[in-house]
Amino acid sequence: MTNEPFLRNDQFNFIKRQVHQLVNGHASVNDQHVIGALESLSIEKVLDLFSDLTPEQKEVLQHIVKIGDKEEAEIFLFNLASYIIPFSEPSEQRLKKLFPKVKKLKLPTEGLNYKRMTYLSFDDIGTKRRYIITPSQKGMIGLSGTYEETNVKHFCAICNRLTNVCMFMTKTKGDIPGTYTKKGNYICQDAEDCNHHVWSLDKLFEFVDNVR
Ligand SMILES: [Zn+2]
Repeated sequence: MTNEPFLRNDQFNFIKRQVHQLVNGHASVNDQHVIGALESLSIEKVLDLFSDLTPEQKEVLQHIVKIGDKEEAEIFLFNLASYIIPFSEPSEQRLKKLFPKVKKLKLPTEGLNYKRMTYLSFDDIGTKRRYIITPSQKGMIGLSGTYEETNVKHFCAICNRLTNVCMFMTKTKGDIPGTYTKKGNYICQDAEDCNHHVWSLDKLFEFVDNVR
């Protein structure tokens, strides 16, 4: 039996956060009423993410309220991960369309986990350029810019965590023809880790609007 995917990666991350909060609640609160309230709040927040769930999908999610400890949480999340809709790997043609100005762009053959991806990101270490394929309010788009590692922790503009970041610099056309504006954003140095923590598309869309 295969599970029909119905979860986006960011929705999975959101649910994971709720699950961890519940586990912490169970570990620190004894009052059954409080636990009950925590559980109903969690399930409400999770179901709110979706507009059209089948009864089976609802059942999968409602399992949250049965989680008591870390071990149960791990099992639940492991099972839930099989419902994540994978990121579709772009073909060579698609890459050309997303990055029309870049010649001979190739996706790395290793290190991209399409099953746990809200946005795709890869670096050209030689030229210190980062390429990002991300959903936006106007569909999938390609962003490219340079990146510079930093030694300080900052909030990532995509997943909003205080973490090791790099400065991602993009150039956008200015209002006057022939002019450019440079924009810099701190984003996770490790994009795979970022993809494990981005829990809302709003923040990602904000980032996209900001760099374009
Ligand atoms: Zn991040």
